[in-house]
Amino acid sequence: MISNSPGLAAFADTQRLIVIAAHPDDLETMCGGTICQLAQRGVAIFSVNCTLGDIGTSDASQNRTDLAALRLQETEAAARLLGLQQIFNLGRHDGELLPDLALRAEIARLYRLTQADTLFTFDPFWSGQIHPDHRAAGQAALDAYMPSKMPLYHPEQLNEAGAGLGCLARVFLFGTDRDPDVLVDVTAVYPQKIAASLAHVSQFPEGETNLEWMKELDRVPGAKLGVEFAEQYKQVNVW
Ligand SMILES: [Zn+2]
Repeated sequence: MISNSPGLAAFADTQRLIVIAAHPDDLETMCGGTICQLAQRGVAIFSVNCTLGDIGTSDASQNRTDLAALRLQETEAAARLLGLQQIFNLGRHDGELLPDLALRAEIARLYRLTQADTLFTFDPFWSGQIHPDHRAAGQAALDAYMPSKMPLYHPEQLNEAGAGLGCLARVFLFGTDRDPDVLVDVTAVYPQKIAASLAHVSQFPEGETNLEWMKELDRVPGAKLGVEFAEQYKQVNVW
């Protein structure tokens, strides 16, 4: 089946993109191919990880503080490979993320500081999303959208240099299989997606063989487009 998805054209007006994820490596594995192509087009990309990723190991002797520091280094290496403009980490503990008012305000602040026009985040409503941090990141990112545009919401944020009212105009959800309506062919940049994902050595110590799950995920929308690999998004209608 060949989809009539708009593909990259869905982001034709995007100049500043913010990605709200839960863990280091979410951006790379979920939407790294799309991000790579948008960065090549000159889009300024801001990456936000809500948690430190500090339980992301099967080694019970690991120290959480050391693991968080290592994962930040890996995130920086991946960001250089993909050409991201800036990365942020909100410092929450992995496995304990809640879409509370504090997280909403911190995300709204970043919408205001980055002046992003487009948001990518997890689909918090996809029933197949089993990771609580993924649901919480997506929920908080959507919850911050509206208040970020309103001047009486945390007005102190508007005094920061460069900040203005939130100006997001487009919202796309990844990590979803809920009637996705934007499918992006990422076959041409798949080597870059794999390289950025493998920058997270702590997560994929055996290299590409650890990414078979990602390839399987990306082959499903790829088959709909008639290409090898694609990434898929659910667009939220906003105003
Ligand atoms: Zn994750």
